[in-house]
Amino acid sequence: MKLSQLLTATLREAPADAEIISHKLMLRAGMIRQLAAGIYTWLPLGYRVLKKVEAVIREEMNNSGAQEILMPAIQPAELWRESERWDQYGPELLRINDRHKREFCFGPTHEEVITDLVRREVRSYKQLPLILYQIQTKFRDEIRPRFGIMRSREFLMKDAYSFHLNDQSLEETYEKMYSTYTKIFNRLGLNFRAVIADSGNIGGDKSHEFHVLAESGEDQIVFSKNSDYASNLERALIDLGEEAHKLESARGIEVGHIFQLGKKYSKCMKTNCLDEHGKSITLTMGCYGIGVSRIVAAAIEQNNDEKGIIWPIAMAPYQLALIPVNMHKSVRLREAVISLYKKLLDNNIEVILDDRNERPGVMFSDMELIGVPHRFVFSEKGLDSGEIEYKERTINENKNIKIEKAIAFIKEKTSSF
Ligand code: ATP
Ligand code: MG
Repeated sequence: MKLSQLLTATLREAPADAEIISHKLMLRAGMIRQLAAGIYTWLPLGYRVLKKVEAVIREEMNNSGAQEILMPAIQPAELWRESERWDQYGPELLRINDRHKREFCFGPTHEEVITDLVRREVRSYKQLPLILYQIQTKFRDEIRPRFGIMRSREFLMKDAYSFHLNDQSLEETYEKMYSTYTKIFNRLGLNFRAVIADSGNIGGDKSHEFHVLAESGEDQIVFSKNSDYASNLERALIDLGEEAHKLESARGIEVGHIFQLGKKYSKCMKTNCLDEHGKSITLTMGCYGIGVSRIVAAAIEQNNDEKGIIWPIAMAPYQLALIPVNMHKSVRLREAVISLYKKLLDNNIEVILDDRNERPGVMFSDMELIGVPHRFVFSEKGLDSGEIEYKERTINENKNIKIEKAIAFIKEKTSSF
């Protein structure tokens, strides 16, 4: 990509209403723009990052044996009346009428829709266990949308649902999802912790939350130094009463949540199938969410410095920034830069060429703000000595590389994922 063509604008200062660092940096780096309270457009740079997060999640979900589907965002009220959540869910549910005055909502979650699908499609125990997932826009009319896409009203979620003949099968899938989430958050380079949680609004029995550890996190998690015990504070108070306040604590951003739902939805929505003896059994369910868009903000909360974003490598919008110095004054340099740029593209290196007529300092600080992990600087002097200058975003040291070795060098640097 040539930076001159990219729809972006870096800002020196963040708007005053941006409170936390990820919100400030996402605005300053030109990743998102607000349309209305808690409702955002993703600009090209931000959208590339979001797509990378989505791709890692999709790959690991597919590896786990889950099947991807796409359900409607708009859901009929009747299904929510069956589960009794039409009344229980409260004002966070965005309710809509169609032209015939029929009632709908914009889905904040999809237990009702998936349960309705499965009760129609699944007939026999031979089809179980079944894990279905989607990556889709949700709407929750949050009372206080804030922190940019961290707590927005419209956001991208990966939600998965599993169906089982018995509790043991649910337990096995729950364990599988727990390890799939661990793989996903590790691949995304996040420092996270899984904690025992309260199952809240969704209902059900056993549940764990996955928290990215960060000072700005809205949740408090507590853990024991002497055992594996880790829990969110709400749950610890229920389990350890006041003792919970003696435990070690940390702030966390909830990026994932897994639940054993049991028969909460399948019972009231009459979701049955025949077991091996021909007997009708009510299915047992699990559900598993990941805040895809929230992960982008959470990663920035954990990885930044005074210059800007430091992307975990799997999330970086571009791997390499190619910065020519005074290219607009030298035809010779321009030709060499364009030739290298084309070679990088041919080798599938995700490169962004700063072809603007800007001072080097401006180009450097923009690329550092955006958080591109690797940088090549190409100048007339370098052309004379046959070298380009290499720098890593997080290391304060330049290194000269022979031009003819540049491709192999960067390929090696970016090949580990
Ligand atoms: P929270 O306690 O943060 O409101 P939740 O318990 O309501 O989250 P779930 O219903 O478990 O969330 O949804 C699954 C995931 O979706 C959450 O773990 C979180 O990462 C993400 N998520 C939930 N609400 C929002 C929101 N308003 N904006 C962005 N992401 C969200
Ligand atoms: Mg919530």
